[in-house]
Amino acid sequence: MDLAVDLANTLRPIRGEDHLDSTDALRTFLEEHLPDDQLDEPPNEHDLEAVRAVRATVREALERAAEAPELVARLVNEGLCEHRAVPQLQRDGDGWRLDNVVEGGGHAARLAVRALDGLAAVLVEYGPDRLGACASPTCRSTFADLSKNGSKQYCSRGCAHRASVAAYRSRRRSS
Ligand SMILES: [Zn+2]
Repeated sequence: MDLAVDLANTLRPIRGEDHLDSTDALRTFLEEHLPDDQLDEPPNEHDLEAVRAVRATVREALERAAEAPELVARLVNEGLCEHRAVPQLQRDGDGWRLDNVVEGGGHAARLAVRALDGLAAVLVEYGPDRLGACASPTCRSTFADLSKNGSKQYCSRGCAHRASVAAYRSRRRSS
């Protein structure tokens, strides 16, 4: 799940920052988010363009999940189909898990399938309300809320704190 959120958050639309703006930046992102055996060729410009397209899909799913869960399901299904992901049983410690994997395909396909799998898992286990974008109008970072009560509105403690300080100040001004 971290992968989908981290990928979406390489774009900071409010601040106008894009942290996936070069093949070097993409390489660092891949190294941080894919297992070593999935890192073969260094990414090229074509990979960068394809990953940025995947990011747009993942960000849309995260931002709109609560209001449009059907859309998220469609984006996940279409994405898994497009990248020809197939479910495979894999060893997971002493147990097993069923993962969608993609044979061949480039970096973008591998990232897409892992990110979409993460979104699907949250949708299935927790529900679409757990996916969202930070309520701070100056942030809009995406998040997946896997907490017990699931009432997260802000991406971080920092954003929640700033919002409560701002609300306090505006109450004081109006009283
Ligand atoms: Zn935030």
